[in-house]
Amino acid sequence: MAALDGLPPLRDVIARHGLDAKKALGQNFLLDLNLTQKVARTAGSLEGATVIEVGPGPGGLTRAILALGAKKVIAIERDARCLPALQEIADHYPGRLEVIEGDALKTDFETLARGEPVKIIANLPYNVGTQLLVNWLLPGHWPPFWQSLTLMFQKEVGQRIVASEDDNHYGRLGVLCGWRTNAHMAFDIPPQAFTPPPKVTSTVVHLEPIEKPLPCDPDKLEKVTLAAFGQRRKMLRQSLKPIGGEALLARADIDPQRRAETLSVEEFCRIANLI
Ligand code: SAM
Repeated sequence: MAALDGLPPLRDVIARHGLDAKKALGQNFLLDLNLTQKVARTAGSLEGATVIEVGPGPGGLTRAILALGAKKVIAIERDARCLPALQEIADHYPGRLEVIEGDALKTDFETLARGEPVKIIANLPYNVGTQLLVNWLLPGHWPPFWQSLTLMFQKEVGQRIVASEDDNHYGRLGVLCGWRTNAHMAFDIPPQAFTPPPKVTSTVVHLEPIEKPLPCDPDKLEKVTLAAFGQRRKMLRQSLKPIGGEALLARADIDPQRRAETLSVEEFCRIANLI
């Protein structure tokens, strides 16, 4: 049975183009177009939007983004085997899908956006996704070039992204995301929804930039969170010793007996601003 967009079912596309999943590229494909639409809808209205999609694979999520009205999708895919399948989608939606073969980790996304406000949507291998997320949170200027990030992660990584103080998952990623974005986990996706199924549950995380985050130098914030969470079970007077220890904490008016995971983002920024 053909899908609602008139294109063939993804299972046929994969068989026809010989796209058996490659583990090294973290390929776990979503073939259910209702589910890919649910992921795409998490990005908010896509009507008339420009979207950068990373890792389109055979194009399930790409099709959902286009069906939901995106005026332009720029998709970056590393696996050249996927390009003919993606070309079929581009032919179906003339002028609306541009596919770039390349490594997302080496891609200059801001240049790709060409000054347009963009929504970024991706289902990537989790290590690539986390590195890209950190890059997108630390561009040369703020607010950033992107309007929102809608990303799929292992659930445990999603929990770290949205965590705030006094949460076991709170750490460097949570501080960075909490400092610059409003982030929430939208919904989980069980392993069996993917082909082949990964070992763990996935989750969709949506992040929007805070227009004016607390003033703070990202390098200094990184220094503080690295020291503090590097020894997360120790008191701050111990873990922060290399960068100023008790004296620094006294200036920041923070109890030196506290531990990293009890500090709010505002308190981390306060310490960072004093080093
Ligand atoms: N978006 C598709 C979906 O939801 O079914 C595919 C998702 S699959 C988990 C990850 C995709 O990212 C694969 O197509 C893989 O080839 C691609 N990929 C992996 N590493 C990449 C990289 N560094 N740059 C661009 N694409 C990459």
